[in-house]
Amino acid sequence: MEARGSLAEMKKFLGTAKLTNLIRDRTRKLEPKRRNQCEGVNGQPPHTPTADEKPLGFSHNPWRSRLAILQDCLIKYREGGDPITSETIYYIPDLDCFEQEFIEAHLPWENSGKILCKRCDREWTATGRAPENGATPELMPPAIADQTSGTATGCPAVETQTNIQQLTVELIHQRLTNAEVLAGVRKVFPGRASMNTVAWYRSHLIHDRSTRFDKLRAGRIPPASAR
Ligand SMILES: [Zn+2]
Repeated sequence: MEARGSLAEMKKFLGTAKLTNLIRDRTRKLEPKRRNQCEGVNGQPPHTPTADEKPLGFSHNPWRSRLAILQDCLIKYREGGDPITSETIYYIPDLDCFEQEFIEAHLPWENSGKILCKRCDREWTATGRAPENGATPELMPPAIADQTSGTATGCPAVETQTNIQQLTVELIHQRLTNAEVLAGVRKVFPGRASMNTVAWYRSHLIHDRSTRFDKLRAGRIPPASAR
């Protein structure tokens, strides 16, 4: 099955029931809900849920929702090379592959969310709605910007257009400050990325000798906004 449409249409088509159910299926067991413990939020210790706090469930990190992950996974499927706007059209040739990539973007699960009771889930969601920058950036794992691979699925690789990762790397290579890099990334991807992710990439570009960063250092491309 294939799908084509704008972000709003994709969210409507995929983001509501379909992907929610997919996540629920995949996290149903999670080592019997991590041995029947709620992981707790905001520095509270793990606890066994009381009857009215049940059932335990998987909750996305408030700073990176299911729909934000969907949006990241869609980037490589956009049509045309223009900066992403609400008008951008995405074409997914194989929805099964896309679902795989969406799941993989969550892994390991402990990076994308927590097992929480109903009460803690509400509290965590409320934390996520706190005013901009009022949230707790130190909780934000820098690796959240790694949304582009998806090759481990065995699905055919789609020629990746400029994405946040490449753009970040390119701007860092232009000897800009972190603030300037962030501003540049947000011109193309409004509201995305963070100082943490920029700093994380900068430090890894300098020190990280893994294949991934070898590739990033080598495979640089011009910024998407230069047209
Ligand atoms: Zn709890």
